[in-house]
Amino acid sequence: MKELNTDVLIVGSGLVGLVAAHSLSRLKYKVTLVDKKNLINSANSFKDTRTVAVSEGSKFFLDNLSLWQFLEHYAEPIKNINVYDRSSCNKIIFNNPSKNKKLGYVIENKIFSKILINQLKKFKHTKTHYGFNLIDVELNNRNSRAFSNDTIINAKIIIAADGKNSQIKKIVGNKTFKKNYNESALVLNFTHEKKLNNTAYEIFYKTGPLAILPMKSSKEVFQSTVIWSNDNTFLKKLTSLEDFFIKSFMEEKIENIVGKINKINSHQIFPLSAHINDSFTNKRLIYVGDAAHSIHPIAGQGWNLGVNDVKNLYELSKNTVIEIGSDMFCQMYNNKSYHKAFQLFQITDKLNSHFLNTNNIYRSLSNVGFGFIEKNQSLKNKITNYAMGV
Ligand SMILES: Cc1cc2nc3c(=O)[nH]c(=O)nc-3n(C[C@H](O)[C@H](O)[C@H](O)COP(=O)(O)OP(=O)(O)OC[C@H]3O[C@@H](n4cnc5c(N)ncnc54)[C@H](O)[C@@H]3O)c2cc1C
Repeated sequence: MKELNTDVLIVGSGLVGLVAAHSLSRLKYKVTLVDKKNLINSANSFKDTRTVAVSEGSKFFLDNLSLWQFLEHYAEPIKNINVYDRSSCNKIIFNNPSKNKKLGYVIENKIFSKILINQLKKFKHTKTHYGFNLIDVELNNRNSRAFSNDTIINAKIIIAADGKNSQIKKIVGNKTFKKNYNESALVLNFTHEKKLNNTAYEIFYKTGPLAILPMKSSKEVFQSTVIWSNDNTFLKKLTSLEDFFIKSFMEEKIENIVGKINKINSHQIFPLSAHINDSFTNKRLIYVGDAAHSIHPIAGQGWNLGVNDVKNLYELSKNTVIEIGSDMFCQMYNNKSYHKAFQLFQITDKLNSHFLNTNNIYRSLSNVGFGFIEKNQSLKNKITNYAMGV
């Protein structure tokens, strides 16, 4: 049995675990990052076809970590977001109150991940182990320990970044509150005729929200991604059709925005659920990202919320008085991170129910509310600043 010692053990190299590894490596901690999957060498072998809408606040943090310079080239800036309740007759248009700033940036998960993995190699004291088969975790006052079949890793703290179905959570026995939405999200990437001019769209249909996010495109070929929450059986049927039929169907839904759809590049379906742990900490263990919480993608904030966890972790780890992994450290992390996660969990859940509600009186009141927000610039600025994480 091999035995390794490290300051920080991060379990999970998704987009949140990777940002956590960068943050703590920058602070010169000895970091070990493990993942059960094998190293993804090429962007083509990456299974996740999603994009992430990076908020201005998260971009600022990536910039602090000297990562944004490598990502910027692949990120499509969002300057406006047009939100429609059922149709464009009922809309709110959001833009950044500071005229020269953006609302966010759209970047493909596979490119994002590849860049973060490559950039991590420059930290000599950071080690990565892919294909790590975690079988047990032991937490005590002095250190935490992770076991695979042939390796024991001793650390001052374990950072669980192992996603929604966190195995660490199951081993340790932390409780979680889970909500299953009876819907899935279709992620459809395609090229199309019209330029979106850095405008993203969110249309609240009665069956669920449909977002259109412009992706980095060349001068002639415009690319976008659609994230459409809908009934799982319906989405499965739709995506089982030939591309020609998918194109025609989607054009009927959104042609006025994107023009003709030229080519479908990929489609993938994600079952939707949300959860929040009853605590984001245990002895010498903290949870970050989807291992701590997951929310409905209605506002495109799940990863940004994970970055908020990492920001809190980074700020606390800079402090040389409180030992990383100590009870006080873990409690302070929990106090800083829990409230915002709980708030967003509630907001996204309520927003989803609000727009799914088909009662006529309710819809009329909702229309009045929409009109009120559209006319009230200071309220729009408040909503925008909250969503941007600034
Ligand atoms: C359709 C959809 C669209 C979305 N769009 C956006 C958006 O626009 N903006 C936004 O902010 N968020 C968005 N999100 C949310 C976002 O995708 C997630 O919040 C984010 O990817 C979570 O990252 P993570 O690193 O915490 O978890 P994951 O990406 O799930 O990564 C977990 C990692 O842990 C590894 N792992 C799992 N188990 C183990 C184990 N036992 N041992 C070792 N490793 C393990 C996995 O292999 C994986 O690499 C969207 C979500 C969905 C479903």
